[in-house]
Amino acid sequence: MPDRAPQPVDRQLPTDEARDLISLVRDIAQREIAPKAAEEEDAGIFPREVFRLLSESGLLGLPYDAEYGGGEQPYEVYLQVLEELAAARLTVGLGVSVHTLASYALAAYGTKEQQVEHLPAMLGGGLLGAYCLSEPSSGSDAASLRTKAVRDGDDWVITGTKAWITHGGIADFYTVMARTGEEGPRGITAFLVPGDAEGLSAAAPEKKMGMKGSPTAQVHFDGVRVSDDRRLGEEGQGFAIALSALDSGRLGIAACAIGVAQAALDEAVTYARGRRQFGRPISDFQGLRFMLADMATQIEAGRALYLAAARLRDAGRPFAKQAAMAKLHCTDTAMKVATDAVQILGGYGYTADFPAERYMREAKVLQIVEGTNQIQRMVIARHLAGPEGR
Ligand SMILES: Cc1cc2nc3c(=O)[nH]c(=O)nc-3n(C[C@H](O)[C@H](O)[C@H](O)COP(=O)(O)OP(=O)(O)OC[C@H]3O[C@@H](n4cnc5c(N)ncnc54)[C@H](O)[C@@H]3O)c2cc1C
Repeated sequence: MPDRAPQPVDRQLPTDEARDLISLVRDIAQREIAPKAAEEEDAGIFPREVFRLLSESGLLGLPYDAEYGGGEQPYEVYLQVLEELAAARLTVGLGVSVHTLASYALAAYGTKEQQVEHLPAMLGGGLLGAYCLSEPSSGSDAASLRTKAVRDGDDWVITGTKAWITHGGIADFYTVMARTGEEGPRGITAFLVPGDAEGLSAAAPEKKMGMKGSPTAQVHFDGVRVSDDRRLGEEGQGFAIALSALDSGRLGIAACAIGVAQAALDEAVTYARGRRQFGRPISDFQGLRFMLADMATQIEAGRALYLAAARLRDAGRPFAKQAAMAKLHCTDTAMKVATDAVQILGGYGYTADFPAERYMREAKVLQIVEGTNQIQRMVIARHLAGPEGR
């Protein structure tokens, strides 16, 4: 019988360089990330050394300019790297996506001087970033945020609490959206705050259902003083910057979701071929064969959708609607596929002896972060039918 163990995904990549990059990532994922994933997730250990290795390997600044230490890769390549990392361990894939999101405001809106000063360390100098938009009382309605930045001479003084911050308490830099003016989206400004700034502190990490290795914490800004040269973009431009960062960030979440889904499918296929009931492998039963076929089809559709959105972005064309569609479809696919994988493993699927239950717990958060899937539907509908309440 031919060996039908799941093969690596046959990826469409634009260059030999991109193919080499995927090989490098698979090697790191297999040697350094996957072997410790289950144990460290269980114990809530963040793999800081993996992020140092990724930084040294040029994998923490992939979509940014080579001039500042980035990898200058198109999004269609960067996202497939994320997918591979997330398949090995979501904490790592999502962590790279959040770091990339946190670097975006400076890379896209910073001045030349700010970029020269800060970007190389962020993109390849071993630093880890966090993105601070959400607050305890403003999640989906992010424009109602209350953290304040008040001008004091050449400085700004930031006061308030950010919630749900991935890498909160361990990040080296925080991209922070704070209110500097009127209520609503036009009164918000973005700042780059160093992790060791006086007055910045983090609460204990949230006790989460999954991704326990990835610290998510409230971050307190108690009179944190930053000079005006740490303001990113114009005063009042912060919300537009935050949303523009999220258009790209959502593609990262979509790619991570397909990574988790692919890992769950591979697990289900391997198990179904090995497990025998009624004298035959359970993979012989049409009830399961059709489930596997549907899982694989949804994954391929999701990959095609996020890549189509990425290729629009790479071509400099509008992609926000497609990014929301990709986030919605890919994360719903991850949830469905991971749930079905647990079903295919039967009772064993419900135990921590197999990774299927971890994939199921991890998939859930992807339907919530960077705009819940209800919010993605609102974004898509706005593109179709215009703003609500006109
Ligand atoms: C593990 C984790 C990591 C995170 N990392 C970060 C991070 O690094 N940085 C950051 O800034 N934030 C982060 N977040 C926050 C995340 O983006 C928010 O949780 C998310 O935006 C939802 O906000 P909320 O939790 O306040 O829910 P709410 O906004 O209170 O929503 C509650 C429910 O109401 C629904 N809802 C709200 N408004 C509408 C509407 N108009 N129509 C229909 N339904 C609606 C939502 O879809 C949801 O189902 C993280 C969250 C988690 C769980």
